[in-house]
Amino acid sequence: MTNISTTLVNSPKALPPSDQLGFGQYFTDHMFVAKYAEGKGWYEASIVPYGPISVDPGASVFHYGQALFEGMKAFRQQDGKVVFFRPEFNYHRLAEGAERMCLQAPPMELFMQGLHELTKVDERWVPHQPNTSLYIRPTLIGTEAFLGVRPSRETTFLILLSPAGSYFSEGAKPVKIWTEEKYLRAAPGGLGAVKAGANYASSLKAALEAKQKGYAQVLWLDVERLGIEEVGTMNVFFVFNNEIVTPALNGSILSGGTRDAIIQVLKKKNLPVVERRITITEVIERLAKGELKEAFGTGTAAVISPIGVIHYNEKDWAINDNETGPLSNELYKEITGIQSGAIKDSMGWITPLT
Ligand SMILES: *Cc1c(COP(=O)(O)O)cnc(C)c1O
Repeated sequence: MTNISTTLVNSPKALPPSDQLGFGQYFTDHMFVAKYAEGKGWYEASIVPYGPISVDPGASVFHYGQALFEGMKAFRQQDGKVVFFRPEFNYHRLAEGAERMCLQAPPMELFMQGLHELTKVDERWVPHQPNTSLYIRPTLIGTEAFLGVRPSRETTFLILLSPAGSYFSEGAKPVKIWTEEKYLRAAPGGLGAVKAGANYASSLKAALEAKQKGYAQVLWLDVERLGIEEVGTMNVFFVFNNEIVTPALNGSILSGGTRDAIIQVLKKKNLPVVERRITITEVIERLAKGELKEAFGTGTAAVISPIGVIHYNEKDWAINDNETGPLSNELYKEITGIQSGAIKDSMGWITPLT
């Protein structure tokens, strides 16, 4: 156990109304901070009042984008207890991403201890209303001040907490998506498979232009503008009459925890789920033939986001009459049921806050 020093706020904030949480708008009273320097190891692990941190303006994060994050959730179950959903998954993904980004990953023990102690301190912020959660944002940044281009020898590890309602303003209503043929999110050999801030920097312009055209999310294609990769910041599933397809992890797709959970649930139900390459032309051809029953995005923030319309080749193609399909509903209920405690966790996905 590391000794984590704790400095509590003098005046805790008023809790935001739980029906107006939205996503990522509020931060709790405290945050976790730990620092690493080569030759020194991890030091100054602390829980401090939430607020600005002091970072040298020459730090690599500002100039060369050495930044990586995670997104995970804690839930208040029906008995009032707080649980985390698959924190080990997020730890391992952070550690793998840190390796690619030449940042130092915290040891698993420090990550878990910081997570539990911080959440304990801010436990009153875990909302009680159904469909709400505490969104958790572990973050790694390169903080050595040095203008030569090489990996930072210092890393800062932060954990921020943000109470969350429903991710999309439309709620669980199906979204319209724009197939992006100009911009690219990630390419083979790049950063697509890690949760690097840089991927988001690369995706903002496409998302903005899609929004201006009336589409909520972007459907990302591969370098050939043919293979389907992801939808916005989510993984994507297509439900055909004889198979459920999600793009295989090809090195430029982010390996989502929700994607993994959905695949496991589908397998447990003996439904024919396949991870393979799938092209936009296959999707549109089978949609035209009536073989595509449902499509949805998956991610921690929204869990399941049904896709109602795909724009491709100057045409809007409706899926399931722009209604949420039965499988989307069933999977949403299954995953959120395990998270809320309404359904028994037979998967070992729930970790109680200690
Ligand atoms: C975070 C993220 C996802 C979803 O991952 P989850 O672990 O399910 O939240 C999918 N795609 C991208 C690009 C992401 O950043």
